[in-house]
Amino acid sequence: MIQKADIVAARENIADIVRTTPLLSSQQLSSLCGNDLFLKAEHLQKTGSFKIRGATNKVKQAVREGAKSVTAASSGNHGQAVAFIAQQLGIPATIVVPEDVAACKMEAIQAYDGKVEKCGLTSADRLPRAKQLAELQNGVYVPPYDDPYIMAGQGTVGLEIVEQLEEVDAILVPVGGGGLLSGILTAVKETKPSVQVIGVEPQLANDTYLSLKQNQLVSIPATSTIADGLRTSQPGELTFPVLRKYLDDIVLVSEEEIRAAFCFVLERMKQLIEPSSATTVAAAMFGKAALREKRIVAVISGGNVDLGQMAALVSR
Ligand SMILES: *Cc1c(COP(=O)(O)O)cnc(C)c1O
Repeated sequence: MIQKADIVAARENIADIVRTTPLLSSQQLSSLCGNDLFLKAEHLQKTGSFKIRGATNKVKQAVREGAKSVTAASSGNHGQAVAFIAQQLGIPATIVVPEDVAACKMEAIQAYDGKVEKCGLTSADRLPRAKQLAELQNGVYVPPYDDPYIMAGQGTVGLEIVEQLEEVDAILVPVGGGGLLSGILTAVKETKPSVQVIGVEPQLANDTYLSLKQNQLVSIPATSTIADGLRTSQPGELTFPVLRKYLDDIVLVSEEEIRAAFCFVLERMKQLIEPSSATTVAAAMFGKAALREKRIVAVISGGNVDLGQMAALVSR
């Protein structure tokens, strides 16, 4: 299991690449929630999501150990983050994407000089190919969440929150594979254990919720939640034990609640966040976590929204 010291080391390791993002607030949102709500603005992070934190920590370590290239299997935020940090460090990155990848996602990877290789339609197709490519190219495969360096990198979000808002009572974190949540849990619980940390999942992608209830890894079938960063089918082997050890609670939000939160933040706060991040705002807006008059931080994990999808998100 990672420890706070790993996260402190990660912060040093990634400091030249990663931004310290601000906490944003809105009186309207706070009064609507009945709590003082702050948004940890990782949509303003380099590459538009927190994924650059873990990717930078992992890829820098790999280069120190002699890696000459990197690969990843993600057309989303993780793929962009790996392409970006490889470009910064001057090594090639190959990102394996599905055959039916959206053009805009492919272009985002290519804009960071990432090479795109299309392979199959499922992650079961892409993952072995990315690992094989790494072997062929004297490189390293960078996993999206189930890796100690990735988890420690994501945990730097937690260190920043407890420094930026010393009186924080609770933190809401979106959950996909659990890399972000396990990192934040380790940082926060090993600094200030009284802070409540609560995971948020879409009802349609409740694999971690079910796994925690059943006390074992539960896998769910492919899902189509609009929170596309949270479509993972089961928690990680390394992330799950951290959740079991430290997590205070996990709550679920509906597609309609995610959409309402997305619209509120866009219209009232002028912030473009992605649906995966709107889950935490939705949890606060719709009173999922039974908190009153507390200081809450909702982690806004990213802001990469497909413009083609926007119309459907904002129509009532
Ligand atoms: C990857 C991602 C998540 C989920 O992170 P995990 O570490 O997989 O739990 C949440 N939001 C956004 C925007 C993401 O890109």
